[in-house]
Amino acid sequence: MGKNIIVSNRLPLQIEVHNNTPKTSPSVGGLATGMKSVHQDGESLWVGWSGLTDESISESLRPAIEEAIQKAGCSMVPLTEHEVENFYLGHSNKSIWPLFHYFLEFCQFDKDDWLVYKQANEKFAEVVLNHYQDGDVIWIHDYQLLLLPALLRKAIPNACIGFFLHIPFPSFEIFRVYPWREELLSGMLGADLVGVHTYDYERHFLSSVKRLLRHEVKYNEVYHEGRITRVDSFPMGIDYDKFYQAALAHAQQKDSEKSELQKRLDSHLMSNKDSKLILAIDRLDYTKGIAGRIKAFEFFLNKYPQYKEKVRLVMLAVPSRSNVPQYKLLKKETDELVGRINGKFATVSWTPIWYFYRSLPFDNLIDLYTSSDVAMITPVRDGMNLVAKEYVATRTDQSGVLILSEMAGAAKELNKALLVNPSDTEALADALQTALEMPVGEQVSRNKSLQQRIRRYSVTRWAESFMQALLKAYDQREPHTAKKIGEATLEEMTSQFEKAKKRLVFLDYDGTLSPFHDNPEMATPKDEVLNALEKIQSMPNTQLVIISGRDRDTLGTWFRNFPFVLVAEHGMFMRTSDGEWSGSDQLRNDWMEHIRPVLQTFVDRTPGTFIEEKKHALAWHYRKTDPELAQNRVVELKTLLNSLISDNLKMLDGNKVIEIFHNKTNKGAAATQILADWPADFVMAIGDDVTDEDMFIELPPESWTVKVGFQKTEASYCMSNTDEVAALLKTLAEAI
Ligand code: UDP
Repeated sequence: MGKNIIVSNRLPLQIEVHNNTPKTSPSVGGLATGMKSVHQDGESLWVGWSGLTDESISESLRPAIEEAIQKAGCSMVPLTEHEVENFYLGHSNKSIWPLFHYFLEFCQFDKDDWLVYKQANEKFAEVVLNHYQDGDVIWIHDYQLLLLPALLRKAIPNACIGFFLHIPFPSFEIFRVYPWREELLSGMLGADLVGVHTYDYERHFLSSVKRLLRHEVKYNEVYHEGRITRVDSFPMGIDYDKFYQAALAHAQQKDSEKSELQKRLDSHLMSNKDSKLILAIDRLDYTKGIAGRIKAFEFFLNKYPQYKEKVRLVMLAVPSRSNVPQYKLLKKETDELVGRINGKFATVSWTPIWYFYRSLPFDNLIDLYTSSDVAMITPVRDGMNLVAKEYVATRTDQSGVLILSEMAGAAKELNKALLVNPSDTEALADALQTALEMPVGEQVSRNKSLQQRIRRYSVTRWAESFMQALLKAYDQREPHTAKKIGEATLEEMTSQFEKAKKRLVFLDYDGTLSPFHDNPEMATPKDEVLNALEKIQSMPNTQLVIISGRDRDTLGTWFRNFPFVLVAEHGMFMRTSDGEWSGSDQLRNDWMEHIRPVLQTFVDRTPGTFIEEKKHALAWHYRKTDPELAQNRVVELKTLLNSLISDNLKMLDGNKVIEIFHNKTNKGAAATQILADWPADFVMAIGDDVTDEDMFIELPPESWTVKVGFQKTEASYCMSNTDEVAALLKTLAEAI
């Protein structure tokens, strides 16, 4: 294995320039800590933006800055002011961020921003590609870089690429609003592994992939372009020991060592024997439910007036994205609310809310965490929320109560917290009262179990388990099916084709010669394919057979002027190369009268599905319907049909179709019969559906059998799609 390449919007460092000398200092965020095991000196590289725009770096200083960044194991992606404005503040934070957090009303889908977002992702790709070597493992982070996995996949198809989304993935009904939704999903699917925080985000993502891209999804695997992308949840943790140890050390502090903040917190706690502190820490972001929490605190003081002058809400709001108008408005709203409530309730000796609008150093955070009896973390939507975990980690005596919003990803793991719906003001106020009155024994028992979980699944463990899963996903990226046709095989195949005395080629139609179409009658053969077929057919001692489930009228019309052998309705009818149809017109079809109404009820209840009626078969097509609804209906219909059909009928679970036809028809039997009548020493069969498996099984073992798609098959080889089939036919057409 080569080196690890981590890619995120921001590099994990700050740059300061003093006397024309740049100096870097590491950032202390959760991601930087988690990546420690992945980002080791010399063996890894972190690619991202430095925080300085191109305009702010003078040409003379650039080499020194690049060198300082390189020394820190990083490589910088240069971004202009315009790019930061439109890519980061613009598209990422005015489009993707609000949409993925369910704030549709704040979304600004601006085409120019989107184009710059694409352009910035391309810049990241360029820097990664400059450093990439075979065997490297690439791990891309977050919503600013959703297109990057596919950009890299295109340039380096065999690379091992992981992607982790640190924010929620919204439900399909929200995501479908996004104007460039297909491109964004395809961008993410460039990865071998897509990681999210919770199972809900995973299923929302897969649901969008199924519905919008119509890729095949099995459990958590997406089958597309001959590869598998796996999707899994990895709830991000914290550096538990760092917080726990800091809290232990904090408890040993002498008075003289205490910070000013700690002294103020102590003086509140000592002002009354019942004094308590309630803590809230968030970035000032509309997703964090700050206004709702303040209003709930007001409701609480009105409903439970006995707590006046005893409890205090300490609110730390960390400045964030203050150039985005929505955040400016939020700041104003928060200031006004705090002002109003403090004005309404404050007494000479008591202010209900202590509000800090700033970022605090680590030691002060520990002051806040360890001094607070209750932490009230109530975002309206949050990918994970690390503050909640940090609060629990600092409770060394296991006292303290965490009130946590159900809408935070962390709630899935921290179910021993008091979980609340952040929109239910009264429930929030009641939870606060419950927390303040909770017996210490119960606090300890809840925190014990919470701490166990947070300690075990730390941020280091999170990173390691993602990496392990990524390497495994990479190893298993190719579906376990037949071999792909490589260059050597293709050469061998053409050479045998050339040398053969007689050649017989069986070709399925839908999904093999023509891609599936929402309206099957529109899937007419393309000129390019027809030309290749015609050329092959015109070779001496060569016979092409179109062997399909289609009815004979359709095949007869499409291939009216071509001397191919046609097999219709899976072998029920056959047309020889001189245009004569044979087959059983005499079979009884009275079974259709019983089955048709059953299928009709499924059409009625499943919008987008339809019945195709053939001479001796009925087919229920569900390609156009919602894939999740279809999944349920298929199980239901199969169960029902199994109990209805008699021995002389068979039910086929095909490619987005359930078909019922006579038992005696089968493409395998039809192909064997043709081969017996027209023995050939080069036999080839290409098909994509379950019905083609009969051909693959029954043709002689030396035949060239090719499955289109990557499902389990009896064929010896496989290819990705109809385009590859067309290319193969063209090669054969030019072989002689
Ligand atoms: N934090 C900080 N300085 C502060 C307040 C908070 O560094 O003044 C840290 C906090 O310890 C936590 C992170 O910021 O690790 C916030 O992460 P979280 O997942 O809670 O929210 P996000 O900001 O990622 O939405």
